[in-house]
Amino acid sequence: MSTTLYKRVLLKLSGEVLMGNQAFGIDPDFVAEMAQEIKEARDSGLEICLVIGGGNIFRGMAGAAKGMDRAQADYMGMLATVMNALAMQNALEKLGVHTRVQSAIEMDKVCEPVIRRRAERHLEKGRVVIFAAGVGAPYFTTDSGAALRAAEMRCDALLKGTSVDGVYDSDPKTNADAKRYETVNYDTVLADNLKVMDASAVALCRDNAIPIVVFSIREKGNLARILAGEGTKTIVQK
Ligand code: UDP
Repeated sequence: MSTTLYKRVLLKLSGEVLMGNQAFGIDPDFVAEMAQEIKEARDSGLEICLVIGGGNIFRGMAGAAKGMDRAQADYMGMLATVMNALAMQNALEKLGVHTRVQSAIEMDKVCEPVIRRRAERHLEKGRVVIFAAGVGAPYFTTDSGAALRAAEMRCDALLKGTSVDGVYDSDPKTNADAKRYETVNYDTVLADNLKVMDASAVALCRDNAIPIVVFSIREKGNLARILAGEGTKTIVQK
């Protein structure tokens, strides 16, 4: 039985989380630590969908800023998310956690395509499902991919594990008086342009009443705390 607040969650990790303390790419030690925390959550009975960004390898906007065609650069970004998904799959399977990667861009030599019913079956069997390539279209981000998969998989919450410990009313890196919200509603996030996820992702969560829990995944043991309803976080809700 699950000892967490939730039965099924979608955990979104930004690509930069996989860098650990490096400036670029994937830090295998850090990915292994993450995988251990995910395993412990899974072992408690929780059903887990994962979405991992690609910003540690390539972001479409950055490519476009250097003169690349935006859509072309975005496809590169989506491929980066598949690499991260495979790295996490490898780390989880080393710990004996069965996983399936489902990509929104079909590549049948390396992973499954996104098939909702098949993903359901994987979760029932205790497998972790990693959704890669975002929504499979340029001009989106993996935040939108996470919101979409959380909705279609009927997740109880979207957990956004990032490098800050919640949502602030201004940037805590530049303003020492910045205040963290305990809870904040979707419309405030959108109206005040608070840095949570991009607007389309927040709107999709709002329209489907999926709470977004923003927390720092860099702090060891935090995933378990958040799942138990503890730890420092911000909950975006109605
Ligand atoms: N991307 C995209 N469509 C999607 C998901 C991702 O075009 O549905 C591209 C986009 O260029 C994005 C990159 O993939 O910048 C990496 O994803 P993201 O920036 O969301 O990663 P994160 O910031 O979470 O590491």
